[in-house]
Amino acid sequence: MNRLSKKCYEDEVQRLIKIAIQQYDQCITLSQNSIELAWKICLKHDLKVPKLLRLLLCEKCKNIRIPGKNVRVRLTSGFVVWKCFVCGYESLIKRYK
Ligand SMILES: [Zn+2]
Repeated sequence: MNRLSKKCYEDEVQRLIKIAIQQYDQCITLSQNSIELAWKICLKHDLKVPKLLRLLLCEKCKNIRIPGKNVRVRLTSGFVVWKCFVCGYESLIKRYK
């Protein structure tokens, strides 16, 4: 695999993430499918998974997480807690100063 094709896949992943965020209100399945596809592209082509994609995917049930819609975001000491409404999983993300 050459360098150019890897760049193409990274662009595709960014495009899919953008679609997933924009289309959540109109069609949840489209948004869910595009975020799953972005994740699969990252795994298949050995790309670095973008930070935004890590935040948007639930670690347990692989559902899309949009703050204010289907996830609760709370600040605690040292961590940001993202609680998924689908499976109830709480993921802790370290806070940086
Ligand atoms: Zn979940």
